[in-house]
Amino acid sequence: MYIYADNAATTKMSDVAIQAMLPYFTEVFGNPSSLHSAGQEAKEALEAARATVARCIGCEPREIYFTSGGSEADNQAIRSAAYFGARKGKKHIISTAFEHHAVLHTLQKLEKEGFEVTYLDVSQGHNITARQVADAIREDTCLVTVMYANNEIGSVLPIAEIGTVCKAKGVPFHTDAVQAAGHLHIDVKQQNIDMLSLSGHKFHGPKGVGALYCRRGLPLVNVIEGGAQERGKRAGTENLPAICGMAAALQDACEHMEENMARVRQMRDYLIAELSKIPHCALNGDPANRLPGNVSFCFEGIEGESLLLLLDMKGVAASSGSACTSGSLDPSHVLLAIGRVHDVAHGSLRLSVCEYNTMEEMEHIVKAVPEVVAYLRNMSPVWKDLLAGRREYIL
Ligand SMILES: *Cc1c(COP(=O)(O)O)cnc(C)c1O
Repeated sequence: MYIYADNAATTKMSDVAIQAMLPYFTEVFGNPSSLHSAGQEAKEALEAARATVARCIGCEPREIYFTSGGSEADNQAIRSAAYFGARKGKKHIISTAFEHHAVLHTLQKLEKEGFEVTYLDVSQGHNITARQVADAIREDTCLVTVMYANNEIGSVLPIAEIGTVCKAKGVPFHTDAVQAAGHLHIDVKQQNIDMLSLSGHKFHGPKGVGALYCRRGLPLVNVIEGGAQERGKRAGTENLPAICGMAAALQDACEHMEENMARVRQMRDYLIAELSKIPHCALNGDPANRLPGNVSFCFEGIEGESLLLLLDMKGVAASSGSACTSGSLDPSHVLLAIGRVHDVAHGSLRLSVCEYNTMEEMEHIVKAVPEVVAYLRNMSPVWKDLLAGRREYIL
């Protein structure tokens, strides 16, 4: 049995998405910018996909721009608001300390270019409040960029309330909704969201494609210069198979959201309840407002990296949700931001489940994880010190 429980990193493509892509690899290969009928057929498919994505998040088709993924959409949204803000002398941005690197690194770049960024504290309840946003807004604030749901610890942010605050103060509001799209209900008009990023491969669509919603009237800078594709805001011949696959996957996810997420929540709650029984562990993330499929824990006295390798050998694909996996020894900025100390942050585990998982798989996981944690603690000098009272437990 091989159990894939790393759906926050990427998902398996659905048959619906694959089938939706196939015609655009074969018969319908025209360039949507060509005037002949082969091109126009491709153009129609492109616009149908745009209308589908728009319908799923409650905006107009002309407000959707296709990108190469969530990262590009984040970059373009943030740079646009920053540069247009700067023209009016507004160079202050509000964000949170636990954003995805696509947002954080863009903000750090802007700081070097003279922008000032307020990173809201997320240590209270592993979330932020709309009040924190309201208090941080200044005369010179040109953007609030706050993620819809956190990819590592699963906290779902009070997006509609933040939207209300931003609208009242006239500040553009962008949200990285990559983890939310297809999993949580999104209505950009109702929630007063001005810009939103999503990515195909997080909801059983293809990789390398995403979308940016930008409210009509808000200016966008183009990050890629060239042809007039995407209303002149994103040059390059459109990746039509991927765009059609993403649109089909999003529509499928939104149509079946209620029943799928009910099952996913059930598996998540079972994992959380069972894994909480492991001594000296702590749940990361907002326990109440939480992504349906996210389970995130810190275990004292172990290394997340060894935990992952041993779980993989037991047939469970998980993540530490930390930068350790990418070769860096620094613990996750997200876990540090919620107040986990370095040693504890190193012992993290993220399991992210989807509707393709089964309860039988969950039963396997709740047996495997405690075994592996106990095994690693047995070999851990830190754990020996804790047991002997030479060191104090943190969790
Ligand atoms: C995956 C992810 C991204 C990046 O999306 P890509 O399509 O892989 O570029 C951005 N933000 C969040 C919250 C994510 O989970």
